[in-house]
Amino acid sequence: MTIAFDAPFEIDTRPAILDQFVTDETGRPGSRPRGVAYAAGLDEVLAVVGWARETRTPLIARGAGTSLEGHVLARGDELILDLSQADSILHLSAADFTATVQPGVTRTRLNAAAAEIGMQFTVDPGADASLGGMAATNASGTTSVRYGGMRTNVVALQAVFADGRAMRIGRAVRKSSSGYDLKDLLIGSAGTLAIITELTVRLHPIPEYLRSLRISFPTVRSAVAAAVDMLGLALPVSRLEFADAASMAAVNGFRGTGYPEAPALFIDLEAASDAAAASDEREIQRICLACGATEIDLARTHTERHALWEDRHRLFFALKARSPGHRFLVTDTAVPYSHIADAVDTATRLGAELGLDISAAGHIGDGNVHVVVPYTDESLPAAQRFSHAMVQHALDVGGTATGEHGIGLAKKQYLRAEHGDAVDVMAAIKRALDPYGLLNPGKILDP
Ligand SMILES: Cc1cc2nc3c(=O)[nH]c(=O)nc-3n(C[C@H](O)[C@H](O)[C@H](O)COP(=O)(O)OP(=O)(O)OC[C@H]3O[C@@H](n4cnc5c(N)ncnc54)[C@H](O)[C@@H]3O)c2cc1C
Repeated sequence: MTIAFDAPFEIDTRPAILDQFVTDETGRPGSRPRGVAYAAGLDEVLAVVGWARETRTPLIARGAGTSLEGHVLARGDELILDLSQADSILHLSAADFTATVQPGVTRTRLNAAAAEIGMQFTVDPGADASLGGMAATNASGTTSVRYGGMRTNVVALQAVFADGRAMRIGRAVRKSSSGYDLKDLLIGSAGTLAIITELTVRLHPIPEYLRSLRISFPTVRSAVAAAVDMLGLALPVSRLEFADAASMAAVNGFRGTGYPEAPALFIDLEAASDAAAASDEREIQRICLACGATEIDLARTHTERHALWEDRHRLFFALKARSPGHRFLVTDTAVPYSHIADAVDTATRLGAELGLDISAAGHIGDGNVHVVVPYTDESLPAAQRFSHAMVQHALDVGGTATGEHGIGLAKKQYLRAEHGDAVDVMAAIKRALDPYGLLNPGKILDP
């Protein structure tokens, strides 16, 4: 039963429904929200935002709910504004290399539609996230080493601000120097500045000549050295992913594969011709062997490539399956290339010291390696100490607390250490755009 109370739209307040919103993929606990409203388009969003302003009701926009940083968890009496039904693909243009979509469209749906015109949407966070949520977290993923994340790939937006106005921001062109860049301000703002109701994103041609490799190494340092050498030689890698020995063991357990349980790189490379692809592939093999690679596996067919990347993409679920009854903390630091190996070594040392069963994997081509830490109530303090030490290490070497997942609830304490007085400018922007603090309060900045 959906209950309409003092609002000009329906709000679902059934306890069984609200209970679905009290935690996330990591198992982090939140509160039961006040209710859930669903919006299928601009008019509904305008109605919800207008009512929220009149009644001073805080709102949490929600896409697919795959955030790992507590972004969509309520902390008090917030209303969830679920945009998953705003899921129309409005326009695909092979001529302009763009797509215009509603925010609830998921990346796999957009990719399936784009493939019909020979194009692809490249931002790939693994989870089947919504385009609105991905823009709001400035998501990136396995292909960002070549194609960039959401800031690079969103060219224009429509958004509803807390004052009830809908605005179009940005233009569907490759570049623009016009005015302050409000488009890039909204990207990564986690629903704290406006609700995104439409996005125009870049599409890229599907490459004809693609090679995939999985390569095992004796040590983390040798895998990192090979990855950095590939980037240094400007090899056209479109995915450059790392998984440590524990991650590979989890994949074997979950997927029934027989990979060496040793540090590995997963690589895609794209080329303009078959000859170029073959030559680049040979160069990658040469680099890896020079760095001590112990096994090179070439995925030749579409099926083999698909299986290889499924293994990589299912890693988080493989790790979850390995630690039943646990909650999960996922670090997201990004560091300069010269500090990646140190970051993984620091994680391994700290994990052993704190008695945590950690594993590391991620987007090594972006200097962004995640450590997954299973924990229980008992080991929560150790997991928090671990996460804090990883962030501190990243900040000390000039990196960031979060390469792609966002600040959310968990990383707020590091904002000033990372940005200094610029946090005051961020707070002033928040106050100017959302004076009553109604949009996703307590995320990124404290109210
Ligand atoms: C297995 C797994 C792997 C992952 N790997 C990656 C990865 O490689 N890279 C990466 O970047 N992330 C990754 N993530 C995290 C997550 O997928 C991303 O943060 C994603 O961008 C969230 O999209 P969503 O649709 O689920 O958004 P949600 O979780 O629903 O929301 C995220 C934030 O966006 C806001 N929001 C949602 N929709 C709108 C809107 N229309 N307007 C304004 N604000 C809105 C919400 O309020 C919230 O603050 C992973 C998650 C999982 C579970």
